[in-house]
Amino acid sequence: MDRIQALLQTLLQGRPFGWNNVVDIILVAIFIYYVFVLIRGTRAVQLLLGVFVLVAIYAIAVLAHLTLTALLLQYLAVAAVVALPVVFQPELRRALGQLGRLGALDRLLAPTSEAEVDLEVDEIVRGALLVRQQGNGALIVIERSTGLQDYMETGVPVNGRLTAELLASIFMARSPLHDGAVIVHGTTVAAAACLLPLDETSDRTTHRYGMRHRAALSISGQTDAVVVVVSEESGTISVASNGRIIGNLDEERLRRVLSSLLRSRIQPLPFRQRSA
Ligand code: ATP
Ligand code: MG
Repeated sequence: MDRIQALLQTLLQGRPFGWNNVVDIILVAIFIYYVFVLIRGTRAVQLLLGVFVLVAIYAIAVLAHLTLTALLLQYLAVAAVVALPVVFQPELRRALGQLGRLGALDRLLAPTSEAEVDLEVDEIVRGALLVRQQGNGALIVIERSTGLQDYMETGVPVNGRLTAELLASIFMARSPLHDGAVIVHGTTVAAAACLLPLDETSDRTTHRYGMRHRAALSISGQTDAVVVVVSEESGTISVASNGRIIGNLDEERLRRVLSSLLRSRIQPLPFRQRSA
């Protein structure tokens, strides 16, 4: 440790090296890692590359004394400071949402019992199967740490006990509540006929999905909600989480995926597949 410290001291040209520097470097490293993880696979990557190119051109312009070009790029930078938060609004919202969602603390403050989660999973699995049996489609959003109040307000409040039969009734084709999403809060059905946001993604794989599946993908990417989708067209059941969807689940896998997602309120499942 002493040798490392001495080495760092020479590197820092005699300036005192303290543990605060270590903490500093670790924090910045975590920050950069987090930014990379966050933007991986999004349109932010292309934009970031564009920004790098502009910065490189700026550096060349300054070095080569191209005053006018450098000036233009300086003004562009000012405009970018205003434009970037607007362009990256969904990503920023997601990032801040994740930051405010301190899983462990959250669990301490509002513990959910295992029995409650089991009941939740049970009713939703049974509900999805019932909906499929009736030949209907469903969109069920399960709230976790991120509050979904905004979306509940776009629909009709239900505040009913979560049961498979209630879910199946809501999604009956002739029910006035069937069009839109149901939001489940713990063991209650909070609201039905809710409108979910759609974010436009450049992701080519989403084009083969219908609106219901895309709405599920969007909300699961913007919040930590878990979404169960029953396709009216094909009768397949899918689960969306963390901006990814896994499809074609049978009862057993649906139960497994749901309970592992709802039990772990902190870690996102490493979803890989993308089939509907
Ligand atoms: P399916 O496989 O069931 O046909 P899909 O993914 O092809 O699903 P659509 O056929 O486009 O989706 O839409 C089916 C239903 O999904 C709509 O009638 C509506 O009830 C619901 N839906 C679609 N988009 C949204 C949304 N943004 N918010 C809430 N509900 C939605
Ligand atoms: Mg469809």
